[in-house]
Amino acid sequence: MTTPFDFHTHRLDAEDAVISVSPDRFSPESGKWYSVGIHPWDTAQAMGVPDEELLRRCAAHPQVLAIGETGLDSLRGAELSVQREVFARHLSLAASVGKSVVVHSVRTAQEILAQRRGMRLTAVPLAIHGMRANERVARLLLDAGCYLSYGIRFNPAALLATPLDRLLIETDDAPSTIYEVAHLVAGTLSLDVDELIGLTNLNARRFLQMP
Ligand SMILES: [Zn+2]
Repeated sequence: MTTPFDFHTHRLDAEDAVISVSPDRFSPESGKWYSVGIHPWDTAQAMGVPDEELLRRCAAHPQVLAIGETGLDSLRGAELSVQREVFARHLSLAASVGKSVVVHSVRTAQEILAQRRGMRLTAVPLAIHGMRANERVARLLLDAGCYLSYGIRFNPAALLATPLDRLLIETDDAPSTIYEVAHLVAGTLSLDVDELIGLTNLNARRFLQMP
């Protein structure tokens, strides 16, 4: 079986994965890939203002494939006005270094898209990670060009509405393995698991512009 690529994890020892870390924890090991950003839950600390210089240095690192996770969470973290400000910084940074963004969105899909549109940064590729929203929200995000990354818990109708070339899989901070996620997603889509792994690996490479 081909090794499935884990699009989003917080496990520092993960391989064949994008390891998501905050800028102060970024200490790259050879052969590994990262995304760097301020998690929306952390925006409540220190006013959520990232060290701009440090974040910029991390973003430019060749092992950093994407900016994030960043985004908006209506249930946790600082108040939304602060989160919006932090998310805006990540979006402009992604645009300036030409990288994609790993987005955390909890009941904020419309706002995420509106903010990117408002900043005239619709060319910045977004992947919504930990996708659990319903089919209607999935279609809204897909229409805006987003990739959707699914973990062990998801809405089956949303998954079924996701085109196979916009689909990613991840473990995030769940105890399940990426193989378990791959089997579950493949089963829901009535696909052979190897086929699912092949196409999600390809999608990840494309989305992340992997060398
Ligand atoms: Zn995460």
